[in-house]
Amino acid sequence: MNIALIAHDSKKELLVQFCIAYCGILSRHNLCATGTTGKQVAQATGLNIQRYLSGSQGGDQQISARISCNEIDLLIFFRDPLHPKPHEPNEMNLLRLCDVHNIPLATNIATAEALIHALERGDLDWREIVNPR
Ligand code: PGA
Repeated sequence: MNIALIAHDSKKELLVQFCIAYCGILSRHNLCATGTTGKQVAQATGLNIQRYLSGSQGGDQQISARISCNEIDLLIFFRDPLHPKPHEPNEMNLLRLCDVHNIPLATNIATAEALIHALERGDLDWREIVNPR
């Protein structure tokens, strides 16, 4: 499965801790991330992560493009709901595209925990059946 990771600055440490906790599961999948998020997770976990630009520089749009092409099977995007970002419209489009393409999406750690266990159980395997690559 192809998994995309994004975290706003105030949520990066939370995502790093999440990825440390689930490193074993994540290591069996293809990971990509926006620039700084990917750098911090890779440094903390040793996971191999394809890094795009920073979100503010268009990294979220690079991930949006992959979602549009149905190349992402799961998006974990830890948002800071209290401090909107200048590139918020792009982020809203990213979330919209997940709904357009039926991509499982976690915007907080509670949902991310549920989805990572679902991933491990094989509950998301339908993605590869519906979208053979
Ligand atoms: P970053 O981008 O991982 O490069 O910080 C994410 C964001 O804040 O949009």
